[in-house]
Amino acid sequence: MIAANLDKFRKELPKHVVLVAVSKTKPVEDLQQAFDAGQRIFGENKVQEMLAKWEVLPKDIEWHFIGHLQRNKVKYLAPFVSLIHGVESFRLLKEINKQALKSNRIIDVLLQFYIADEETKFGLTAKEADFLLCSEEFKILNNIRIRGVMGMATFTKDQEKIKGEFQKLKKIYDALEENHFSSDRNFDIISMGMSGDYKTAIDEGSTMVRIGSSIFGTRN
Ligand SMILES: *Cc1c(COP(=O)(O)O)cnc(C)c1O
Repeated sequence: MIAANLDKFRKELPKHVVLVAVSKTKPVEDLQQAFDAGQRIFGENKVQEMLAKWEVLPKDIEWHFIGHLQRNKVKYLAPFVSLIHGVESFRLLKEINKQALKSNRIIDVLLQFYIADEETKFGLTAKEADFLLCSEEFKILNNIRIRGVMGMATFTKDQEKIKGEFQKLKKIYDALEENHFSSDRNFDIISMGMSGDYKTAIDEGSTMVRIGSSIFGTRN
């Protein structure tokens, strides 16, 4: 099942779109199956769970943290995480930089933007991001690399509404690229789209989709 689902996505996704297999809540056996089918990028949203899976699974997996990250837990992920999708404050960014330095690494991150109209979703506004990126304090963070943006649309079946929210994120990305990253070739990721809305996301410019239930089945 898992292998067949991955295969379907591999055939369907355009070449420029990276597939993150969101394995949260699923047992390591399921991740191993996906790994055996060739998947190397996995997304988790709980620090302890990601750590436990990292310890037992093959070391050439790229671990993406896609959840809400508390500052006091950054230290656990810093030695191995490949990409942190949800950076939504300057304080978090500074902590990631600090822990990356301790691990002698440069950690890739995405800035998370608030595009939905649900209060439970986290994220920066475009203004906050501009302020952050222009500050002197930001310029001395040498152990993080901002690779792009991430956003989550409102949980709804209304694809027109979702489309509008993804367009908003694409616009934010374009503005950041023009105003802050025009000479930075590493700024190239738009992480948007999940099982229910990835097609719309790709139409609106996504370069990275985070797919869980359509690969591993529904979660309990
Ligand atoms: C759970 C989760 C996903 C995957 O959701 P599915 O609907 O199962 O594909 C994607 N992104 C984030 C941030 C998530 O928490």
